[in-house]
Amino acid sequence: MFFSALTPPVKPQLVEQFRTLTKPHSPLRLNVGFLLRESVGYSREILLDEPHLAIAADLTVEDLRGSLTFTRTPQGLYVSARLQARTTVECSRCLVEFAQTVFSSFSELYHYPPESASPGDSLIPEDMNLDFSAVVREDMLLSLPLQPLCRSDCKGLCPNCGQNWNERPCDCPTDKGDPRLAVLKRLLDNNPPSPPC
Ligand SMILES: [Zn+2]
Ligand SMILES: [Zn+2]
Repeated sequence: MFFSALTPPVKPQLVEQFRTLTKPHSPLRLNVGFLLRESVGYSREILLDEPHLAIAADLTVEDLRGSLTFTRTPQGLYVSARLQARTTVECSRCLVEFAQTVFSSFSELYHYPPESASPGDSLIPEDMNLDFSAVVREDMLLSLPLQPLCRSDCKGLCPNCGQNWNERPCDCPTDKGDPRLAVLKRLLDNNPPSPPC
């Protein structure tokens, strides 16, 4: 895990606080207690650069990069995040796995102390830990294309022999007709309709 700040230059003791207060395998889970001790208007950008991270049971990513910006407000903490990563998906045409870039971008006001919040507001829990895994997971899964393509001109698989046409052509007949009609044609060829009496 690696944290650093863009501006102002990060104070070494703050980095140390993050290291000790953050769970080592959850860079998306941060203890924000020390940020709440800062005065209103204080802002800090945390950079994430994570080579490999299992965000959730159904989402593992590589090269998670981006920033989480925390701003102390009278109501609590305003958080704004811009993250991107790569995850492995299957091409919808040729079924080959490839790396697809996914994104997460959100901003949210987390209220503190909880008594100051209205129903429905996001709160900073008593243990001061904010876990962004759920919102990042949802964002990133929603950013995936419905029909991922390994490349825009993916040629796909031969519906007849299964050959990956990106690798090489096959020897199947190049009849571009509707494959459902081809099935019907084969049936008719084998069982010609009886001539009318
Ligand atoms: Zn493909
Ligand atoms: Zn073929």
